[in-house]
Amino acid sequence: MNLDTDIIIVATQNKGKVKEFEHAFAALGKQVKSMFDYPELPEVVEDGVTFAENAMKKAKTVGDALGIPVLADDSGLCVDALDGKPGVYSARYAGEHATDEENNRKLLRTLEELKLGEDTDQPLLSPARFVCSLVLYNPATGESIETSGAAEGWITAEAAGGGGFGYDPLFYIPEYEKTMAELTLGQKQAISHRGAALRNLLDRLKSVE
Ligand code: IMP
Repeated sequence: MNLDTDIIIVATQNKGKVKEFEHAFAALGKQVKSMFDYPELPEVVEDGVTFAENAMKKAKTVGDALGIPVLADDSGLCVDALDGKPGVYSARYAGEHATDEENNRKLLRTLEELKLGEDTDQPLLSPARFVCSLVLYNPATGESIETSGAAEGWITAEAAGGGGFGYDPLFYIPEYEKTMAELTLGQKQAISHRGAALRNLLDRLKSVE
């Protein structure tokens, strides 16, 4: 399989993800189309129990409907103090169709109830990681390539930054002394779960050329 097309179809309706894929693929001279360009497609029910399962389901559903290769991303936040939650439920942690703000509020409330950081008065509540599974699927051959990536950090009680999306304002990266939402698109791509999964995908494509 290859990515020798000028346009990459990404099976997502998440504007934050679209922006990041546009940035990453612009550097390769490629344009991104997303589900906003194909509003007639049915919504994919994300009922898998792993990121990889959900990414495969999105890639196959959209790829089979369009008849062309599709890239799908399933990702989320896994918090150590919550035994890996919200995980695959990250987008709907505070309920179906929850906003990023509602999810962030629920995360802080849940961690505050555990009284983490109370003795030390420090804002870092728990180690956490962002995880991303990518699947590139070609409906013509049934072939697919799966990769993943992760980014380690801490959940901070002090939200900061206006960039990124989702839980980025609460995800503190000690090496940068900033949250993910305070990074530029380029900086985020260099250290993020999505950036890592995409680099793994491009390496895999190179190795099968
Ligand atoms: P998905 O669309 O089912 O993969 O849900 C992804 C959800 O995980 C998003 O709605 C965010 O809540 C969270 N998430 C995934 N990637 C990121 C990221 O890069 N930054 C912040 N939150 C993210």
